[in-house]
Amino acid sequence: MNLSKISSPFIKKFPGDFSGNTQQRQTPGVLFCTVKPVEFEHPKLIAFNEKLSEEIGLGNFEETDLGFLAGKNLPENIETYATAYAGHQFGNWAGQLGDGRAIYLGEISNVLNKKTELQYKGAGATPYSRTADGRAVLRSSVREYLMSEAIHYLGIKTTRALSLVKTGENVVRDEMYDGNPQYEKGAVIIRTAESFLRFGHFELISARKELDTLKELADFTIENYFPEIDKNKPEKYAEWFQNISEKTADLIVDWFRVGFVHGVMNTDNMSILGLTIDYGPFSFLDEYDLNFTPNTTDLPGRRYAFGNQGKMAQWNLWQLANALFPLINDEKILQEILNNFSEYFWKKHDKMLANKFGLDEILDSDLEFFTQWQSIMQDLKIDYTLFFNKLELITESSDAKFFEATFYEELSKNSRDNFNQFLKVYRERLTKNKISREESQQLMAKNNPKFILRNYLLYECISELNQDKTELFKKLRKALEQPYEEIYPEFSIKRPAKYEGIVGCSSLSCSS
Ligand code: AMP
Ligand code: MG
Repeated sequence: MNLSKISSPFIKKFPGDFSGNTQQRQTPGVLFCTVKPVEFEHPKLIAFNEKLSEEIGLGNFEETDLGFLAGKNLPENIETYATAYAGHQFGNWAGQLGDGRAIYLGEISNVLNKKTELQYKGAGATPYSRTADGRAVLRSSVREYLMSEAIHYLGIKTTRALSLVKTGENVVRDEMYDGNPQYEKGAVIIRTAESFLRFGHFELISARKELDTLKELADFTIENYFPEIDKNKPEKYAEWFQNISEKTADLIVDWFRVGFVHGVMNTDNMSILGLTIDYGPFSFLDEYDLNFTPNTTDLPGRRYAFGNQGKMAQWNLWQLANALFPLINDEKILQEILNNFSEYFWKKHDKMLANKFGLDEILDSDLEFFTQWQSIMQDLKIDYTLFFNKLELITESSDAKFFEATFYEELSKNSRDNFNQFLKVYRERLTKNKISREESQQLMAKNNPKFILRNYLLYECISELNQDKTELFKKLRKALEQPYEEIYPEFSIKRPAKYEGIVGCSSLSCSS
């Protein structure tokens, strides 16, 4: 790998603490602290992402690079550091948080001059680790590695995963926070993103009233990541906020399209670029359920439930607006942008749903149609992904029986009639399309994945990896690269009943 091309312009530009001290502490006045990763002595490679490595300019992996993936043999040009950010967690101001188990390696440019940042996740404590150890377990690292790649190949903006290595160390975790700590295998990943900046970075500096740094970080962000904004315009910050707001809405619409539930949409887990970031207790929907939250910490409030994600994104944008207020100083314009979020979001959302249904445009009557569909899905417990795969293939005579494999419960006579009535309405609606049935099916195929990385698959994959078996991991890696094709028919089934209610399948904790 071309490690000599990695540099750290961020730490040259902003105030930082270069002491290398990893003691947990508040760090007023600085945006980062330099910190060295743990050098894991007996690393074992599980996965390296060759394609991504080439794409970002790091080149080929060679045997001698293994140490680097596990924190060792860092060349002189790499200066590692952890950044300070804050956040609102579950609706409450949490103050300083920061990279508690992420360590920046700096950034690299490819031949097209596109810059990518690199981070270890799980390479040890930083000043921001609070009471934790900065390590990560194999379970959560496998989940992040595979899911961030799955989200990428679904065409959704996300951080990505370059490598997954077992550290050879054991880590103690109380997975369900119920007083049962266990040893688990430790792992470290390298993840990449155009930028890892979060809403929380801006919230922290603003709360600390370090307004010069706030302005500098905003200018840096606009200049590097928002080239479409004219940096000489006086109203550039408002335009920037509007842009962040739209990118965030676009992301959530994409999550709705594929049935992704993030699980912990705290403002410290919100990317300023609208990327999916911080893979924790996430899940795809199996059965459609607007109230579904995979995160046990989110019960009973269900703040981050599937159907709430748009509203929560908007709430998070309010917090960001407060943080950016000193730069914009115009309440009215911020209010207006925040109020417009809903309209923008729902317009995109409805267009997305229309695409899933193979409809070329939205008619006035469609909103009622969508609502009717939603209540049928919710009431009848239908598999979200399989439903649309089947719908693409219906003929004049298809009825509820054709959808049997997508139901999680036996349908009553009444439910069956409702479902069949719905299909009738859908068929009638299709006749109003200006595009042909084939074109409509192509639209559906492009917008409805055939493969989603269900939690039960991850659960099985992790159990196998814990016994050093890699077959399922390899298969999942392959399947997720072509989610709109059916590579392995055995993955195109609803969640088998035996996984219902199992920790790690339908409910997950934040423990990682
Ligand atoms: P999360 O809820 O995972 O987004 O994390 C919230 C805060 O806790 C962030 O500052 C994380 O960096 C920190 N954190 C989470 N897990 C760990 C860990 N194992 N070691 C150190 N810090 C952690
Ligand atoms: Mg986080």
